[in-house]
Amino acid sequence: MKKIIKCAYCKGTGKDFYNPSSISGCPVCRKTGEVEVEEPAVTCAYCSGTGKNPLGVRGACPACGGKGSNTWNSDTVCTQCKGTGKSREGLPCTQCKGKTKSNKGLGNTSSDVVIKDTKKLSCAYCKGTGKDFYYPSEGCRVCSKTGQVEVEEPAVVCAYCSGTGKNPLGVRSPCPVCKGKGSNTWNSDTVCTRCKGTGKSIDGYPCTLCKGKTKSNKSFGVSSGYGYTLGY
Ligand SMILES: [Zn+2]
Ligand SMILES: [Zn+2]
Ligand SMILES: [Zn+2]
Ligand SMILES: [Zn+2]
Ligand SMILES: [Zn+2]
Ligand SMILES: [Zn+2]
Repeated sequence: MKKIIKCAYCKGTGKDFYNPSSISGCPVCRKTGEVEVEEPAVTCAYCSGTGKNPLGVRGACPACGGKGSNTWNSDTVCTQCKGTGKSREGLPCTQCKGKTKSNKGLGNTSSDVVIKDTKKLSCAYCKGTGKDFYYPSEGCRVCSKTGQVEVEEPAVVCAYCSGTGKNPLGVRSPCPVCKGKGSNTWNSDTVCTRCKGTGKSIDGYPCTLCKGKTKSNKSFGVSSGYGYTLGY
């Protein structure tokens, strides 16, 4: 899984930190101000998360590539550099390449820089066509004609519409729970205790407890179905 975070090198501005007037923009994030880091992500020990080369060279940190974060699959710091990310000469540690979890208490990438953990899915309402399902001459209002939607992790198939993205009450409109995406964010391994995973109350409207966003009791579980993962 990947995490989208603010680009450390340009501080999310999209401009080259050392040459802000440059039209080519930030070389790290290609002017987007956002970068992706594979989980588990930790703040870069070598540059302390600044994304700059700590040797005073006007360039991006060689350990994190300017992102300010690295992927570090351990709860402990590097045994060679003890979490400084540096060798004695100040170059990146030869064992962890500067990518260790830091000893400075920087820990995991701080939550304020995390923009979101999202999954890109095919739009359920239009089935990825970008056209309105009921009025094909019009563009899909759910995905703004792109055929793709983003759902924040952890994503599950919408229990209320069974992932179709359509309003199950027979109204020709997107599902009011998932807004037509076909998936919702559900932070639990268990189904809603009130609707038992149907997403519905007795009258057919969204469950009043989970608002229809529960993990479903049908076997589709994690979002797939119509909303297949486009992947990273
Ligand atoms: Zn940048
Ligand atoms: Zn770095
Ligand atoms: Zn090291
Ligand atoms: Zn759509
Ligand atoms: Zn739905
Ligand atoms: Zn419920």
